[in-house]
Amino acid sequence: MSTASINTGLRPLLVASSAPRIDVYHGQLFIEGEWRAASSGGRIERRSPAHGTLVSTYAAAAPEDVHAAIDAAHHAFRKGPWPKLKGAERARVLLAIAEGIRENVDRLALVESLESGKPLTQARAEVSGCIDLWQYAASLARTTSGDTYDTLGEDMLGLVLRQPVGVVGLITPWNFPLWILSQKLPFALAAGCTCIVKPSELTSGTTLMLMDIVKAAGVPAGVVNVVTGLGAPVGQPLAESPLVDMLSFTGSTRVGSMLAGLASSKLKKVSLELGGKNPQIVFPDCDWDAMIDAVVFGVYFNAGECCNSGSRVLVHESIAERFADAVVERAKAVPVGDPLHPDAKVGAIVSEQQMRDILAHIEHGVAAGAQVRVGGARYEGASGTYLQPTVLTGVTPEMSAARDEIFGPVLSVIPFRDAQHAIEIANDTAYGLSAAVWSRDIDTCLKVARGVDAGTIWVNTFLDGYPELPFGGFKASGVGRELGKQAVEDYTETKTIQLHIGERNSRWVPLKQ
Ligand code: NDP
Repeated sequence: MSTASINTGLRPLLVASSAPRIDVYHGQLFIEGEWRAASSGGRIERRSPAHGTLVSTYAAAAPEDVHAAIDAAHHAFRKGPWPKLKGAERARVLLAIAEGIRENVDRLALVESLESGKPLTQARAEVSGCIDLWQYAASLARTTSGDTYDTLGEDMLGLVLRQPVGVVGLITPWNFPLWILSQKLPFALAAGCTCIVKPSELTSGTTLMLMDIVKAAGVPAGVVNVVTGLGAPVGQPLAESPLVDMLSFTGSTRVGSMLAGLASSKLKKVSLELGGKNPQIVFPDCDWDAMIDAVVFGVYFNAGECCNSGSRVLVHESIAERFADAVVERAKAVPVGDPLHPDAKVGAIVSEQQMRDILAHIEHGVAAGAQVRVGGARYEGASGTYLQPTVLTGVTPEMSAARDEIFGPVLSVIPFRDAQHAIEIANDTAYGLSAAVWSRDIDTCLKVARGVDAGTIWVNTFLDGYPELPFGGFKASGVGRELGKQAVEDYTETKTIQLHIGERNSRWVPLKQ
């Protein structure tokens, strides 16, 4: 079938009262504390996927620019003050950056919204949330410590130091640009590392704008560098250079595993946050209305362009039809439209390419036997990349609609028989990022929470997040964890010091009498 829509009853697309007015942001590379043009002079333009308006232009870095940034970070790590500063001093700088973000929430949110297509109200909430991430990292800069062993005998003391791993390459995606950067950069800085950041070419604006804040907060030159441009020429040197000690990547499983291969062959430390096909598992005894709302939120938030998207719902067979009817009704009511409209909850898809990929996934699902219960197509006549909230039923666990990350506003509904069956379906994908269980029975909740392979399990809630709680995936969803109290430790190496106390009386080779 073509993706002709089953669009009866969908709420009309929201249209903003006026076109966006923005001073186009012109970004350069940020290397050694200075703004520089790309050596080739190349530029990239970013237009709003909702309006077609020019939002920003960036320098298209060549590999030699990336190597200049790597050299700056390497020099700042080896010779600069940053790794040797007291934790309290690094914490003060991170707190100053948090305040700088607070003072610029509106400016940052506007660029974030226009580049990504997400609603401005949501972008404001995300940028405000970043403040907390920087503050939490500041607290860890002061409290992260090693270990001591006073249990090794009278003549021995063991010290385990935590030292910064060195130069870290950070590669970030387009879906939550400033948020994902803030899950990485402040923690690497808290550890005493120096960094090179490569944002997505689609949404580099807020990463560059943050550099003015970083500089004003007193981060020494070379400690943070930003190189913009296309994935392979800019990102790959970060995985390959012997001067980069660690790679931290968020994005697709395909690119992540390719980069991990390159980085591992150079024996670098690697941290990966990748995709997900996250199930919400619904039992008949749940709080029905709260569950339906969370299912709709879970899959349509950020237009489904979210690694944590609750893109599969596993629903007990006894309530499958009632569930499908209810979720379709709620999906029809989701306010989709211009990101600048104050009521919009879902904005535009990030790019025409991403739109085509999502539509191809829907067509594939339909060809395999799934039914489009609502949505399944673009909004007719819209000038931006708007996709209707979509629900697919008749999905079976072996279909790609049940297994592959679609990264769009598409929900697959799959029935199950009992808790054990739900766990088996939930675990029958390559991914293992997050999951939710909806039931008032604590035994059911714990059985599912223990049985599902996922880094995060929500119980009677969805998509909450706290800097205190670790985040990351099982299986193809990633390697390592961000956030939590060990977030800074991930950017460290341990060093063991064995300290002998007093006279050394024993000799390996005794002296001749
Ligand atoms: P990618 O994995 O391609 O992009 C993520 C980051 O990696 C971007 O900065 C990108 O740069 C960079 N990159 C791309 N190719 C290379 C390369 N060869 N070497 C080094 N760096 C590279 O994701 P896409 O943006 O293309 O999105 C495709 C799919 O990935 C989505 O549909 C979704 O399924 C998944 N995805 C998952 C995310 C998550 O949060 N887990 C986030 C984003 C996407 P550039 O953008 O400039 O190409």
